[in-house]
Amino acid sequence: MQLFNRDLPFEVPKYSLTGDVLSYQRCGLQYRYYNRSSLPPSRPVQLWTGEFVHGMMEDMYLYWRQNPTPFPWPNTTTPWGGFSTPTNRVDYDLGVLGERVEARLRASGKTPRNRNARDAAYRRVDAAMRLLVPHLFPLITAVEEKLSSTRPMPQVNLPLGQQTRGDRYELTGVVDVISSVSLTTQQNNPLVKMINRQIPNLSGNFDVIVDYKAARRPPMTPPANTKPYWQHEAWQVQTYAWLRAQQPNANPVKAGIIIYVNELSPSQSDLSDLKREISQGQTDVQPSSGSADYYALNTWQPGQGSPTPSFTTDFLLNRAVRIIPVSSTEVNQAVTQIDTVISQIEQCALHENATGNIPNNWNADGGAGDCDACDFRRFCPSPAQRRQSGQQPQPPIAPG
Ligand code: SF4
Repeated sequence: MQLFNRDLPFEVPKYSLTGDVLSYQRCGLQYRYYNRSSLPPSRPVQLWTGEFVHGMMEDMYLYWRQNPTPFPWPNTTTPWGGFSTPTNRVDYDLGVLGERVEARLRASGKTPRNRNARDAAYRRVDAAMRLLVPHLFPLITAVEEKLSSTRPMPQVNLPLGQQTRGDRYELTGVVDVISSVSLTTQQNNPLVKMINRQIPNLSGNFDVIVDYKAARRPPMTPPANTKPYWQHEAWQVQTYAWLRAQQPNANPVKAGIIIYVNELSPSQSDLSDLKREISQGQTDVQPSSGSADYYALNTWQPGQGSPTPSFTTDFLLNRAVRIIPVSSTEVNQAVTQIDTVISQIEQCALHENATGNIPNNWNADGGAGDCDACDFRRFCPSPAQRRQSGQQPQPPIAPG
């Protein structure tokens, strides 16, 4: 006879900072369809790429800890389709590690959108392995540290006859951790120098948390029809710091580092975006006037087959690494913002529950780039293009 676990006598809704909060901030309706229906996206390029990069960083780190093998490591990628596996590869070949990560993702229904998306992910992980990892891995003291704590359920605008799902909600996240001991013993490490430059006078025992984004560095000021990802990601880091502080005996977190992996091997569209953001004063890291990187960027022309300019490692690292000082004021502001997002998600879910209607109860508010890659744009009542042209939202049409 099968015995079942007894349910808790109360409900504690669980929210992941990346999978729920950031996804909802990207677009409420898309979040509803992808995350709350457990519908695997048909073209989950962002999901696959993000998890592939995280998986590769973790597997590379674990291998390097047990077998300290100098970088760079070889990269003999298994061809698309996996029909012929290259022979004579060493265990730490990125192709071998990548095969394992891809198999894990495939087992949970996640595959790359196409060959180009997969190639780009391998190219970026390879760039991370050559340019970043030799400096980053010696600093890391804990990898993929799971963080979790509960917070009081914020006030929710309830539909008639509905109740909140609990008095508290659980917030979760996963980060890598660098301890202050690593920083003080490796003052010549380029990443330590970057941290010291940005946050001078760090002292005592503290931690720095690290998160990876399979994305480019967002502009500080969002262009029209895009979301303020710069701000959203800062709130995410400050909230990781809050979560870490809830763990017994944890050191205080004094800084967060976001690694924008795409910056280590930018694509043509990344470079076009960078040039536009520089001309509009929207980015915080640009090549200094007259430098080799300045000429490399400004003489580059987009076009099929146009080679990517050769930038200096310093410039690529400065674009890829964002250091965020953590303070109690910023943490308090961030968790208040996260509470607001949770309140909105709960409200959308309860209104959907009361009415049975999905599109009318979740904001269809993705940015132009999100809508272009969205599986639901054909029946979405308000894709970005429609909003930009000032048209009224369509009445909702059921999928299928
Ligand atoms: S098309 Fe755009 S607005 Fe509509 S669900 Fe997708 S991301 Fe959201």
